Parts: sequence; C-alpha cells; structure tokens
Amino acid sequence: MIPALLPTYARNELTFEKGEGAYLFATNGRKYLDFASGIAVTALGHAHPHLVAALTQQAQKLWHCSNLFQIAGQQRLGERLVEATFADSVFFANSGAEAMELTLKIARKYQHEAGHPERYRVIACSGSFHGRTLATLAAAGNEKYLKGFEPTVEGFDHVAFGNLNEMRAAVTKQTAAILVEPVQGEGGVRPPPKGYLKGLREIADEFGLLLLFDEVQCGMGRTGKLFAHEWEGVTPDVMAIAKGLGGGFPVGACLATEKAAACMTAGSHGSTFGGNPLAMAVGNAVLDVMLEKDFLPHVDRVARLLKAELDKLVAKYPKVFAEARGAGLLLGLRCVATNNEIMDALRQEGLLTVSAGDNVLRLLPPLILTEAQVAEAIGIIDRVAGNWKA
Ligand SMILES: *Cc1c(COP(=O)(O)O)cnc(C)c1O
Repeated sequence: MIPALLPTYARNELTFEKGEGAYLFATNGRKYLDFASGIAVTALGHAHPHLVAALTQQAQKLWHCSNLFQIAGQQRLGERLVEATFADSVFFANSGAEAMELTLKIARKYQHEAGHPERYRVIACSGSFHGRTLATLAAAGNEKYLKGFEPTVEGFDHVAFGNLNEMRAAVTKQTAAILVEPVQGEGGVRPPPKGYLKGLREIADEFGLLLLFDEVQCGMGRTGKLFAHEWEGVTPDVMAIAKGLGGGFPVGACLATEKAAACMTAGSHGSTFGGNPLAMAVGNAVLDVMLEKDFLPHVDRVARLLKAELDKLVAKYPKVFAEARGAGLLLGLRCVATNNEIMDALRQEGLLTVSAGDNVLRLLPPLILTEAQVAEAIGIIDRVAGNWKA
C-alpha cells in the first residue's frame, strides 16, 4: 500500500523537534551538529532570534494580500537586493526551481523582443542541478531525473562544466543564453576553473547571449561573498537565488539587469504566493544579518579554517577520502569509501551531512559556524575515518 506521503524520498528515521544555532535536537533525545542546514537553507542556523522576531511580528500583522497590491516588505527587499548586487530588478518566487523557471523565461523573451524568436535554446552544463520542474530538469539534463517524464522540454544543449572551448563550440544561431551554477552543488561541489566565469561572460557578449547564473545553492553568503560570482568579478544578466535567502522560510528570487528584464511587462509573469509579507519579513531579516560588516569576513575566515582541517584529514585518511573541494562553506569531501556509508556513520556520531554526486559528502554548515564547532565536526570526522574498515 502506498504511504500517506508520496514515497519520493528515502528518508532517514530521525525526527527533529527543535533547533538552536548550529544544532538540531531529535525526538530520540540526541543533539546533532547540523552540517546539512536543510541543504544550504538555514544559513543563519536554527531559531535565529532576529529571524524569529521578524516572522512573528509580521505574523501578527498581515500574512498575505497578493501581488495585486503594494507589499512594503517586498519593495524594500527588492531595493536592497538591487543595491547589493549587479541587478536592477527583482521578482520574488517561492523556491529555487521557480526562480530558475523565470530565469529561463526571461532568456527566451529577451531574444524574442530583440527580434530573434529563433534564439530560444540555452546551453547548460553536465553535472548541474536546477530544480525538479519540467523545464529545470531539462535544463540540467540529468538522465536519472528525466527518465519516465518524457517528452523532455525542448531547447537545452549540454557541455562539460568548466570547458570554455566546448561552450563556445556549442553556440548556434538558435542559442539564447548560457546557464551555469558558479559553484556546482548537487552534482558534487565543483568550483569553476579560474577564469571560467569570465570566459563565459565573453562568449555571451560576443554572440549576443544572456548569461544566466543559478546561485540557488552557492549564493547568499555561502562562499564568503554575498554571491559566488563576486569572487571572479563577473556579473550575469539574470540570476536565480533561493535556499539561504529565507533562512528556512520558503522564498526564491530572480534578479536581472535592466537590459535583460525590460522584456518583462505587466502580465508576462506572476505568482500567487511569491514575495508575500511573511517571506519578505524573513528575507529582510536575513539580509540585515548578512550585510553587517563583519558577517561575510567571518564566513570566509571560518570556511578557510574548515577547509584547511579537511585537507589534513584527506592527507591522514587516503583510504577514506580522496579530496576536499568547494568554495567557502559549500564544501565537499570526495570519498574513496561510499559517501552515503560515511554520512550514516557521521550521523551516528552526531554530525549531519548531505551526499552529492561524484561520491561526494557535502558539508553545508550554517554560516554562523564558530571555530569551536569546526573543531567539534573535525573531531567527529577524524574519529569516524580512523575507525573506518573498508
Ligand atoms: C536546490 C537547488 C535548486 C532548486 O531549488 P528548489 O527550492 O528545490 O526548487 C535549483 N538550483 C540549485 C543550484 C539548487 O541547489
């Protein structure tokens, strides 16, 4: 008999009843150091007092009124994101996939309005992940997720991540845009080769294409800058964000330059829930914290410490780990042993992690991580790796 919940997840048996900072408390009475963060979502940890206050205060005033009316918190968050980024305009959605859908829609509409309706194709990268809607699945082109859901949405071509020659060679008269995750998350925590994003910008400019970034996972402070592309000093035309933006409250956003966004006029897109007062109150509260001048430098500092400690463990346990890689606090341990087995063993010892493609174990601690918590996590990984029997 089918369970009451559609069995699309192979869920672990743990149930959490409370969270506090970097820790989760389960109904089994145990406390866990959370290096999963709900898959890069609870960027400020659990029950952050400023977020709790923002949400509860808004909850007592107004939950929802629809985008048929002005939403003060949405106006404010939009203006703040414009102020903090390359973007000139923002649309709020409820998830990463939705933010990505609009990103893809803008690419088509932009070329259409520019007199090039034949330019509708998007070149994306192998190993990427962009969401679970029909178009975002097609964009990523992962056969495992597409199987059985054919026909696949038309209009996507794929090249190897990190290879500029392949990207350039894939451009045709039908190409509208290039899409990449500046740091691949689900696919195995892959940072781009140096100069890759800049090269993509050049290809896009040369051929009149839009450059689309998916920073749903790598954005919102995760790499130690507000957005990962800032490390290369390269800006996209359109960018999807979500995950950390709401710190655990569902929200996504599509950010665009004026040039890219000008094609989107009244009636061309919409969302019932997108940008509702609750989500906006939390989003603004998240930005309050992330834009404090010491916040991102802290992320950078603690991330470098964690990475250095992981590198030591890789050297110490070559039969368990092959490599530590990633950017900021989007880190991965490529495993020699099976990633899921190590993940289970770490959880037994009180550390939560997430697996990723390429046999990688993903470490996604909250950005409020302390040096003491780095030491605690490293101690657990050291113990598990030390006891590992292949
Ligand atoms: C999680 C993720 C998405 C999809 O976000 P949802 O909120 O699950 O729809 C899209 N792109 C990237 C890079 C992601 O990590």
